[in-house]
Amino acid sequence: MPPTTPSFPSPTALPEGSHAGFRLLAVHAHPDDESSKGAAATAMYIAAGARVCIVSCTGGERGDVLNEALKHDPHIMRDIAQVRRDEMKAAVAELGCEHVWLGFVDSGLPEGDPLPPLPEGCFALEPLAVTTEALVRVIREFRPHVMTTYDELGGYPHPDHIMTHTVSMSAFAAAGDPTAYPHAGAAWQPLKLYYNQSHSGGRIRAFHDAMMARGIESPYTEWVENIERRGKRHITTRVPCGEFFEVRDRALLAHATQVDPQGSWFRMPRDLEREVWPTEDFEAALAYAPVDEVEDDLFAGLGTAAEADEMARRQDLALTFDGRVAV
Ligand SMILES: [Zn+2]
Repeated sequence: MPPTTPSFPSPTALPEGSHAGFRLLAVHAHPDDESSKGAAATAMYIAAGARVCIVSCTGGERGDVLNEALKHDPHIMRDIAQVRRDEMKAAVAELGCEHVWLGFVDSGLPEGDPLPPLPEGCFALEPLAVTTEALVRVIREFRPHVMTTYDELGGYPHPDHIMTHTVSMSAFAAAGDPTAYPHAGAAWQPLKLYYNQSHSGGRIRAFHDAMMARGIESPYTEWVENIERRGKRHITTRVPCGEFFEVRDRALLAHATQVDPQGSWFRMPRDLEREVWPTEDFEAALAYAPVDEVEDDLFAGLGTAAEADEMARRQDLALTFDGRVAV
């Protein structure tokens, strides 16, 4: 059965200024992940008055240069870590968000059979208490009402993406507990945690079909063939943010070493994308507020910003939604 195109709850962005006082913390593995996953939603929430802070768990030091035009640039090869810091700064400026480096070292994507061991001192090998405390510190300082991260499979099997999930779950559980990491700030319980699901099988298929129908060469043929092998996710939340796809593109292109401007990302005409799939999508994982079957807002059900602030400081909250998948 091919996935069917969902009915989108609302095709237009949430009203400007409607989210003043709300805060969203988006946890990512490497610089560039924030621009390929949830970036248009980030820009939309900022336009709606919310504050959005991106956390990059690692510096992306072990990323390959993926842009053909820059592959042999000696400046880039000499100091890729600095180049990626500069690229991140430019992407953050495009998105208009805030940003924190968590300070851990990229684990790299191991390749080969058998796989080589992960490099000593990398993010994926850090003790969980160390990485959790670092993220708890950020949570207690920024005080988000909502967090986003990756699902238990990491979205794709990079050790840093899987560890980003693990650390996010651990920090979400600890941040509101005053007895956990007492030196990392005053307890603050984020009220909802979501997984990024922007690259679902349904969206890829919708893109592929729309491009084929209009005679545009689709870069998704192989993906579509493999869709059935991907597990089905339970998408709860479709955030209308089509007006911000160009902002997302500019943020992506700011990561010049990682993103090929001629690559498949940019083949889909943006007007067609807005017509076919005008949202970025999320899967609710944990919440202390009700989660509706089809939401269009990550902050749904939290009341006013002042009410959400008050709730996040309470110590008697009980989970009302648990969408975690056992691994
Ligand atoms: Zn990544």
